Amino acid sequence: MKKWKQITLAAFLCTWVVTSSQSTSALRANEFEGNEDAWVKRCSVAQSSSEMATKCAQFKTYYAKQSTQLQNEVSSLKKQISALDDNIDKLAAAVKKQASLVKTIEKKIAMNEASIRLINSDIKKLNKKINALQRSIDERNAIIIKRMQDEQATIGTNMSLEIIMGSQDLLDMIRKIDGLNRINEQDQREIDKIKEEKQEQNLQKSEKVRLKTALEETKRNNEKAKKEAEEVRKQKQVLLDKFRKQEEALDEKMRSVKVDISTIQENMINITNAPNGSFNFTTSGKLAKPVNGSISANSFYYPNGGVHLGLDVAVSLRTPIYAPANGVILYANNPVSTNSGYIGNTTGYPAGTGNSIQMLTRVDGTTYALSFFHMAQENFSVRAGQKVSKGQLLGLSGNTGNTTGPHCHLEVINLGNMAIDTAISRFQSTADFAWGNGWGSAGLANVCSVKGPPCREHPEDVYGYR
Ligand SMILES: [Zn+2]
Repeated sequence: MKKWKQITLAAFLCTWVVTSSQSTSALRANEFEGNEDAWVKRCSVAQSSSEMATKCAQFKTYYAKQSTQLQNEVSSLKKQISALDDNIDKLAAAVKKQASLVKTIEKKIAMNEASIRLINSDIKKLNKKINALQRSIDERNAIIIKRMQDEQATIGTNMSLEIIMGSQDLLDMIRKIDGLNRINEQDQREIDKIKEEKQEQNLQKSEKVRLKTALEETKRNNEKAKKEAEEVRKQKQVLLDKFRKQEEALDEKMRSVKVDISTIQENMINITNAPNGSFNFTTSGKLAKPVNGSISANSFYYPNGGVHLGLDVAVSLRTPIYAPANGVILYANNPVSTNSGYIGNTTGYPAGTGNSIQMLTRVDGTTYALSFFHMAQENFSVRAGQKVSKGQLLGLSGNTGNTTGPHCHLEVINLGNMAIDTAISRFQSTADFAWGNGWGSAGLANVCSVKGPPCREHPEDVYGYR
């Protein structure tokens, strides 16, 4: 657990009240807190004193209030989730619609491109024709010029005079002049015809060029529209992803809220009338390191100064965690998936611990409660009430609950010379991972350098991490 620990830990004791209204903080301080089952038992028989009868009446009110608050929380979460569901459905449909709009525009662009290709090939053909016509005009002009040059050579520069003088009679003269004119006129007509054709082709070409320009403009507009539609689709997708994440978080929160006392009881050691000494295990020497890795945050402060009641060992996901000594499992539950942790996540018991274990051991006459938080869901190898031997696999490290990444958070409570049986029955009636030492900055008043057991030890010292 990282920076947010001090906030979440303060509420560890009462998992499902963490997220509900402030009025619960008033309840949190009372003697029923965490002892609900014992009080249910105590109050379900006739009371011998009026003092107890009053207490039972108070408990009944408290219990009913808790239940109502829990139900309110669940129904409020349900409402939030269903509202989100609605939004998600609408957004998903919008994203789909937007994607199909992008596709439609893409089709238009493809059609634009095909038309432009076609027009380009038409323009190419027209250019060829125009060039051919121009060549034909040039050729005809060249022929005319050549002929005139030839005629001038024979007729001389003073062409009209030569014709007049060289003509045998008027008719011959007229014929000669007329012939010359006819030749020129015919040429001219042909040239005009070709020119006309060329002009026609040029007109066609300019119309094609105009069409092409218009099409290119349409294509550019379509491309712009596509870019915009794509951007809108992306933004809608981002929002959709955000909503989905929110829904996941709400689902997770609801699951956490639903972890009520009975669920906690289910995962807690449940031994009634255990004969004294049935858990007479002892270990001598030091406790072993439960997991190997580098220390990312010491106890009882984070490097930035915030209160941190445990030791964080940074390890990659699914690193084995072993029992540091012989002992018995007090609590074990793995309700969440291995890599589901994030800051503010309240899953698990105590809230925010994700998949968690607490075990009891006794080393050289001192009893310890040892906590392991944020574990993996798979290969969770022990159950409440199970005896474990030193070095036995408890489970794997994970990234669950209130975390910023994969790590194992270790806490050690020194219970002094408390008998194992006493410790078990005390845990059964309180389910208190802190053994009365509190959480957050309140926990600092209960460290072993300040007061006697039960008190918080530096896990670094107990496990020999330093
Ligand atoms: Zn931590």
